[in-house]
Amino acid sequence: MARYIFVTGGVVSSLGKGLSSASLGYLLRSQGYSVRIRKMDPYLNVDPGTMSPFQHGEVFVTDDGAETDLDLGHYERFTNISAKQSDNITTGKIYSDIIKKERRGGYLGKTVQVIPHVTDRIKEFIKKDIAKEDFVICEIGGTVGDIESLPFLEAIRQFSNDHGKSKCLFIHLTLVPYMKSSDEIKTKPTQHSVKELRSIGIQPDIVICRCEQTIPIDQKRKISLFCNVAIENVVETIDVKTIYEAPISFFNQKLDKQVLKYFKLKPKRGPNLKPWKQITNTVLNTKKIVNIAIIGKYVNLKDAYKSLDEALTHGGIHNKVKVNLIRIESDKLKTSKVKEYLKNVSGILIPGGFGKRGTEGKIACIKYAREKKIPFLGICFGMQMAIIEFARNKLKIKNAGSTELEKSCYPAIGLINEWNKDGKIIKGTDTELGGTMRLGLYEAKLKNNSAIKKIYKSNKIHERHRHRYEVNINLKDSCEKQGLIFSGMSPDNNLPEIIELKNHPWFIGVQFHPEFKSRPLSPHPLFSSFIKASKSHDGK
Ligand code: GLN
Repeated sequence: MARYIFVTGGVVSSLGKGLSSASLGYLLRSQGYSVRIRKMDPYLNVDPGTMSPFQHGEVFVTDDGAETDLDLGHYERFTNISAKQSDNITTGKIYSDIIKKERRGGYLGKTVQVIPHVTDRIKEFIKKDIAKEDFVICEIGGTVGDIESLPFLEAIRQFSNDHGKSKCLFIHLTLVPYMKSSDEIKTKPTQHSVKELRSIGIQPDIVICRCEQTIPIDQKRKISLFCNVAIENVVETIDVKTIYEAPISFFNQKLDKQVLKYFKLKPKRGPNLKPWKQITNTVLNTKKIVNIAIIGKYVNLKDAYKSLDEALTHGGIHNKVKVNLIRIESDKLKTSKVKEYLKNVSGILIPGGFGKRGTEGKIACIKYAREKKIPFLGICFGMQMAIIEFARNKLKIKNAGSTELEKSCYPAIGLINEWNKDGKIIKGTDTELGGTMRLGLYEAKLKNNSAIKKIYKSNKIHERHRHRYEVNINLKDSCEKQGLIFSGMSPDNNLPEIIELKNHPWFIGVQFHPEFKSRPLSPHPLFSSFIKASKSHDGK
């Protein structure tokens, strides 16, 4: 049976539970153990797919087409294990499954209750789809003390009773604040948080203390004493300069060692920290800066384009440059001032998006990138906008648009709700918005002698999708005559997947989201190539 590690958080949110779980996942994996990481989210949405980025940050998409919490992105980037649909669950999903079953008469006349029905369902999720993994790390979203998280905490308490303490480990992450006024580190919030956890029957085995500075041994002893945790299991985590330092920092604090010791295991081999040291070094010491403009609705929101920000950083690491993102809010962008906004940029990126607000500004920036020969990358909505720009300004279809934004336009982008996936027809719908887009991994074949084929060094690729609208295939011939090549197509030739401009140093649009597959230790070729082109544009 797998060993289960439950990660909870206390005192405040945003302490870095996701990053801690991901770093631990890497350390265990690199010592020869197989790992899965899962996330349980206490909110009532069935998944984050319909939530605004203002509420929840980015929606991360898995290979198998789940719209999930962005923490799954951290897990993938650190462990290099592709997450699955079964790795993220929400209260909403659990309740909707239970209610469906109840309506079918599945509970045989019983009263359906939080305990045992909801907790049983959570316990099923924890174990679901686990094959031969040595470790399953389960992160519980939210903060201990929240009403919403209670059923999850109760379920993991029961789980450890059902399967035995030797198979389950509880890690609790808390804040240990430093009070400037008294020049002291305070352990009380941690004590209270652990007390709260113990009141529901969970005794943490390891406490990770997030702190601005080193915790003196006396304070560690206090935490150990009051929280009933062995002193060597009081692990501190001091703010790192770059997230790539996190696995190194947790290794230095012996988190992985204590976890293995708890389970009476030994490393099968030493962890490989060299690549993390290398990229930390590159990130901290790179001086050359490349300015990339990113134009979107949510650019000022830290987590809204998390994977994209990461993928651009990875591309920078690959090219030994620091990517400086110039974030331009598309809503506020005046089309007449595009030149001013883009004055000092070496590359222009339009990310995925939904809805009409800010689209004319995006289209004006694409025109500028095309005409001034500035490297351009359009992702999903960004590619759709590039098609509209080209149709309006080069093909002279003045009313070209997307039916997502304007029903009466010429549909350069239109709704298609049947997709061919590996020979099977997948149907979408526009009456229900949750989980009905073209989601997950789809194949694209790449045209010979195209820029994209040189970048991927392959004839066919598989990338993750999350969209409802598609480029109108009827525009293919006229676009290509004017130099905009459809260089990637779906295997049945119906859906344009990639466009690129001839006679331009670097102008590519992709209908998928390459950012979800970029990893710090293996940057995505598209981002590496985009940053490389931007770097050489800068040199001109
Ligand atoms: N709104 C567009 C669509 O649904 C693009 C989505 C996206 O950029 N992810 O097709």
